[in-house]
Amino acid sequence: MNVWPLKFREMSDGSVLFCDDAGGFFKSTDGFLDRYAADGLTTVDETFLRDGNHGFDREFDLRWTSFAYRWARRQARPTRMNYVILVPTLRCNLACGYCQVSRAAEKARGYDWSDETLSRTISFLDRLEGSDIKIEFQGGEPLLRVDLLQTVRDFCRGKFSRSQFVVCTNLQALDERAWTFLDADDTFISTSLDGDRTTHERQRTHGSAVTDVFFRNLETAASRYPEGKISALPTVDVANPPDFDALLDNYERFGIRSVYLRPINHQGFARKIQQGDNVLARWNRLHAEFIDRLIARNHRTGRFMEEYYFSQCLKVRSASGPTATSTFATRTSSPPTMSS
Ligand code: SF4
Repeated sequence: MNVWPLKFREMSDGSVLFCDDAGGFFKSTDGFLDRYAADGLTTVDETFLRDGNHGFDREFDLRWTSFAYRWARRQARPTRMNYVILVPTLRCNLACGYCQVSRAAEKARGYDWSDETLSRTISFLDRLEGSDIKIEFQGGEPLLRVDLLQTVRDFCRGKFSRSQFVVCTNLQALDERAWTFLDADDTFISTSLDGDRTTHERQRTHGSAVTDVFFRNLETAASRYPEGKISALPTVDVANPPDFDALLDNYERFGIRSVYLRPINHQGFARKIQQGDNVLARWNRLHAEFIDRLIARNHRTGRFMEEYYFSQCLKVRSASGPTATSTFATRTSSPPTMSS
């Protein structure tokens, strides 16, 4: 059994108070402290610690997960809400195999906000306290309803002193109105770029003409807007990963230096995708291989690119020191805006 790190303090009655980083605590004796420090816990000690959720047998078993949950809750104290994700439509003009939302066909009816939903959304935003807001528009493909995005943005600009908007778009269908909406300095683009053209087409666009449109729009956006306005994420199929060098070349070509490698999330339509056994271990190996390539590439080219999640791990680790709990911090830190 593995025991989570325990802190301890002698109490006035001679007992010893132990506590862990998730807030669990118990009282015991000097004898227990000696056994704990010398790695000589008895079977009774271990049973007590296991029952009290101070230890675990394997990573990701129930006790491990329960500790992680309690630890994460202590780190993320509720603050005033200033980040809201809105889904004005579930309709989409693509049909990605790994889609994790309940998307509907582009021409489907009944999957957009009604007037009532819009007005309830506005009154919800109106009740928020605080001077700043960040709104993330998700879908479906949110640019199919620029009118709804416009109404929300106009309202937020009037109510909050600082507001920012992120449109998570597949960049497939942009008319003049959509480009004008995106042109605003307070509005950002998050999209999906699954690596090289072949992978992107296999996973998302399913046809050469549609792929051309995507890359043309991405090219236009990259030349129209300053660096930092566009972010992109690749979704990686562990069973069929992209060529990582080609992926990095493609991102750099469009001025995107931060790559948040994300695995397929088995929800929604993605539940149908078979990835074989030991997906987590295979993902970790793949991720490690990507980091090695990235570091070698940065060294070779003298230019900087990062893997976002790995950068967060390094930041948390250097901030909290090499403790067992820092592992959880990396798992609970917020990723950048998720593209659809
Ligand atoms: S992943 Fe996004 S772009 Fe692809 S089908 Fe789903 S909602 Fe549409």
